[in-house]
Amino acid sequence: MSGSDKSHSNVRLDNGMRHQARKRFGQNFLKDAAIIARIIDHINAQPSDHVLEIGPGQGALTESLARNAGRLDCVELDRDLARYLDKYFVNNDKVTIIQQDILKFDLDSLTDKPHSLRVIGNLPYNISTPVLFYLLRKHELINDMTFMLQLEVVQRMVAGVGDKNYGRLGLMLQYFCEVEHLFNVPSSAFSPQPKVASAIVQLRPHRQMPVQAADADMLQQVIRTAFNQRRKTLKNSLKGIISEAALQDLPVDITLRPENLSLQDYVVISDAISSQTEA
Ligand code: SAM
Repeated sequence: MSGSDKSHSNVRLDNGMRHQARKRFGQNFLKDAAIIARIIDHINAQPSDHVLEIGPGQGALTESLARNAGRLDCVELDRDLARYLDKYFVNNDKVTIIQQDILKFDLDSLTDKPHSLRVIGNLPYNISTPVLFYLLRKHELINDMTFMLQLEVVQRMVAGVGDKNYGRLGLMLQYFCEVEHLFNVPSSAFSPQPKVASAIVQLRPHRQMPVQAADADMLQQVIRTAFNQRRKTLKNSLKGIISEAALQDLPVDITLRPENLSLQDYVVISDAISSQTEA
């Protein structure tokens, strides 16, 4: 989620236990009932849904998810909060609390059914990009993902060609998913309050890929290389990964800068490199 200030508060949990919000875990707990209700409405969990909540924290979203979903698995890194939630949901068979780092968690242990998982999370801002890329690797297991993130990150996620926020994050997410910026959330909705604005974003992995690269890792490498040198034209930035001859043969204008090429253009470049490596 978002960068937080230093005044991390001491909050009382339902069982009377006090919890000191931990900055290193990006803990900014949602407190605004209207915002919580709006997020829950958008998710609209059903008894047939298998939901994975990342970082349930003190359970702001968890309670409603547990009520509506058929199955709810929660992965929480903080041992104290995981223990608290485990006790809280002890009599609810639908809910499982797993104390683990989501980046080390094996998503395959939850299901092998394609497009079955609905992933939810008010994510800690410091790991939001790694979490998104980690989930993309398992996109075929996921039905949809709804996240609270730093607004600036959401703007990068939805940015299209020519937009100043257009880059690696948006391109890779849009390659795998349809991405929708749902609504913004003010800092006042959290305790402790983050310094930056937040937003809710929804991602739906494509069932049919609109564009498909021969090798998605190569696509990622091309995009990373291009945007690492934003000021350079493609002709100059891609020199190290594609031969001069193949570069000249590309049906893409290589005198352009990376922000002016579409996802389709990047797929064409990536495929040209893949076939060059195979040859
Ligand atoms: N969902 C709660 C809410 O909306 O109030 C808490 C959100 S708080 C921004 C982020 C939560 O993610 C915290 O509970 C934190 O302990 C947990 N967290 C941080 N890093 C994590 C990780 N690597 N894996 C799983 N949970 C993590």
